[in-house]
Amino acid sequence: MVNKNFLRSTNKLFDQALEFSELSDDLATRIRVCNSTYTINFGVKLRNHIHTFTGWRSVHSEHFEPAKGGIRYDINASQEEVEALAALMTYKCAIIEVPFGGSKGALKINPRDWSKEEIEKITRRFAQELIKRDLIHPAQNVPAPDIGTGANEMAWIADEYRRIYPTDINALACVTGKPPEKGGLVGRSEATGRGVQFIIREFFRHKEDFSKAGFKGGLKNKKVIIQGFGNVGFHVGKFLQEDDDCKIISVLEHNGAIVNPNGLDVTEIKDFYSINGTFEGFSEGEFVENSSKLLCSECDILIPAATENVIDEENANNIQAKLIVEAANGPVTYEADQILNNKGVIIIPDIMANAGGVAVSYFEWIRNLRHIRFGRLEKRRNAYQFDTLISAIETMTGKEMPEKFKEQFIEGASEIDLIRSGLDDIMREAYQKTRQSQIDNNIPTLRTAAYKLALDRIAISYDSIGL
Ligand code: NAD
Repeated sequence: MVNKNFLRSTNKLFDQALEFSELSDDLATRIRVCNSTYTINFGVKLRNHIHTFTGWRSVHSEHFEPAKGGIRYDINASQEEVEALAALMTYKCAIIEVPFGGSKGALKINPRDWSKEEIEKITRRFAQELIKRDLIHPAQNVPAPDIGTGANEMAWIADEYRRIYPTDINALACVTGKPPEKGGLVGRSEATGRGVQFIIREFFRHKEDFSKAGFKGGLKNKKVIIQGFGNVGFHVGKFLQEDDDCKIISVLEHNGAIVNPNGLDVTEIKDFYSINGTFEGFSEGEFVENSSKLLCSECDILIPAATENVIDEENANNIQAKLIVEAANGPVTYEADQILNNKGVIIIPDIMANAGGVAVSYFEWIRNLRHIRFGRLEKRRNAYQFDTLISAIETMTGKEMPEKFKEQFIEGASEIDLIRSGLDDIMREAYQKTRQSQIDNNIPTLRTAAYKLALDRIAISYDSIGL
């Protein structure tokens, strides 16, 4: 069972940061414990039988509302896992300074066992149970996709909410990660992977940091291993390969891995995997059945993007990567973290590395509440101003500006440009403030610095309401 000890690990990592903080024990306890967890058992009639499903929605913190966090569909899900994930959401939102509390949900189900129509029926029933308890609500609790869920599930959830509250003008803001044609944001599905790319780029902007990991410079030709080839793993692999010239040398899935030391074409292997459900038979690489042993292969950057506890005290000593970027939540256990730190492996922790998803969810939520797309009001006005500026420059210099520059200026920013710009800013700032806190407080790791930053901010927020 992959989720054993996840909550214990999360709490130990939190406690480690307390050593660098002035927080009183009682306030620390108040922040650490999960506020509430609702367990829901519900029945759905499928294939002539009533099937009983179990799900959870945990609210770890409500110092800001709504509380925010994904819903995962996973047969290994448990209450303890959901509570650990909800806690990570609290810390993540504090690090990137978005005004949300932390929440998380799960349904104990293997989505591969059911058809799309059956998943829709199950999702709608699950959503009804959560909505009637205000565990899905634009002002109180806003889910998003996670493992085993995506835009479809979010669209069904939004539709259920609208049916139950047809006059709520903000109904669409009850969930994020919806398809763009159903109130979602272009760029949300790629956001977590894009955010991981942005944070890696920021790491490589700091010579002191990349030198500590044993790198000489730039991202070009860095050898990357990715575990988990779902939403997050695919996107981060694609962006690092296409935009930063990294070599994706192995991709690991639950049913085998594909390896090519010269670099894989991420889009090609995605197409192959989507059709065949396995990497076996892909001609441009070697298929390896036991994928998890490849976590310890030689590489520059290891990106676990699957699930928790995959690097533990059993394999941590054999990890050869110089840099681990936690795209997944909780991929490294507390014990493995200690081993890797002693080995000098640098880790960009989950609560910072994969925050791009909730950052863009924040933009989607705002857009749903504003009922207008980003940039709509100012786009033409900006174009007019640039046009005037170009005319003035041409009159003053007597020269014509090249057409391609003119077009770029006058076209202005599209909504996706604005989303990416906002995401880049959030990820850069999260990294910069965390590394500064690490330096200022003489903290050994980025993870502990990130936890300290989060819990100090949450403490201020509790203090300000008199707790
Ligand atoms: P997903 O379901 O789209 O993909 C997960 C992939 O990992 C699947 O293809 C699955 O087969 C594979 N996998 C599972 N166990 C594995 C194993 N032991 N070895 C190799 N592969 C394995 O899920 P996702 O949305 O990409 O989420 C992945 C991780 O990122 C999770 O930890 C999730 O909590 C985290 N995360 C996701 C988001 C988001 O926006 N989706 C945001 C923040 C964090």
